[in-house]
Amino acid sequence: MQPRSQHEIRPVFCTIVPPHILDKLSQSDDPALADPARRTLEADAARRTRRQVTTVVRSTVAPEPEADRSGKPDRTIYDCRHRTHLPGTKVRAEGEGPTSDASVNRAYAGLGATFDLLLSAYGRRSIDGEGLPLIGSVHYDEKYNNAFFDGEQMVFGDGDGEIFLDFTVAIDVIAHELAHGLTQYTANLNYYGQSGALNESVSDVFGSLVKQYSLAQTAEQADWLIGAGLLAPRVQGVALRSMKAPGTAYDDDVLGKDPQPASMDDYIHTADDNGGVHLNSGIPNRAFYLLATALGGSSWERAGQLWFDVLTGGELAVDADFASFARLTVAAARSRFGEGDEVEAVLKAWSEVGVPTA
Ligand SMILES: [Zn+2]
Repeated sequence: MQPRSQHEIRPVFCTIVPPHILDKLSQSDDPALADPARRTLEADAARRTRRQVTTVVRSTVAPEPEADRSGKPDRTIYDCRHRTHLPGTKVRAEGEGPTSDASVNRAYAGLGATFDLLLSAYGRRSIDGEGLPLIGSVHYDEKYNNAFFDGEQMVFGDGDGEIFLDFTVAIDVIAHELAHGLTQYTANLNYYGQSGALNESVSDVFGSLVKQYSLAQTAEQADWLIGAGLLAPRVQGVALRSMKAPGTAYDDDVLGKDPQPASMDDYIHTADDNGGVHLNSGIPNRAFYLLATALGGSSWERAGQLWFDVLTGGELAVDADFASFARLTVAAARSRFGEGDEVEAVLKAWSEVGVPTA
């Protein structure tokens, strides 16, 4: 049997815009809306099958090294110039000043903010804990309606301008994608069914935390949206997802209505979208929102710490369901804060979304 520390890791290929949204768009009668969506779907499907599976060594079993909070990020931004060859032309290296291209500067800042939160709040140096360089490519393809992390780097499209805008505008989208790297290097949750929805939810949680941290917002001040600012003005909607009120992010003639459930009562059983990973993630997302707002203050401090503890603690199974993740958050609250308000708040949050903790 393979020792756990040599566990093979298959990177998740997550695109921030889930297939169900692009499917809906591709059915539009208006070619200006349908064509870019169809091209994006085809490109993503090809990349999923073509993508090389890289192997990295899982290191959660080894004791965490002494936290080194003095690290600096190592970022490089490339410009694809509307082609699909990666990474493209190098346009900004670590420590260099801003360029005249706002997409380049936003990507650079977003990678930096994610690095900063992991380091300052949790003492983790980059997503692998060992200072992994962060690479981003902007202006990928033409009218590409997505952004993704391919296991090695971030890639951003410009959007079609009709439905989606430049994907570098949302810092939580950048952090969401990098958080897939964090999960890949730690709990490595299987990207299917409930463990896949947890994988998605963890990325939304850290995506939102990076945004809140960079804006110095409290739980009460945060919008708890994922991808705010990404939808073009014509779209009836505010974002791709809402952690506060899953199912309410958009309701639009072309996009349809946000299908996310907010509790186990409305859990969606489907084979699409890897068993609904972008749908049922609304349930643990709302549990985190309820916990963070119940505790108040900076969400990354207590609520975020508990999620980070579970993700990196080595106890979370790769095929964990919502209930086992929930039980580990209760255990993490007991171990970090003792019996008290935090444990009570964690129990209440899961209970409100219908996930059992007993
Ligand atoms: Zn994702």
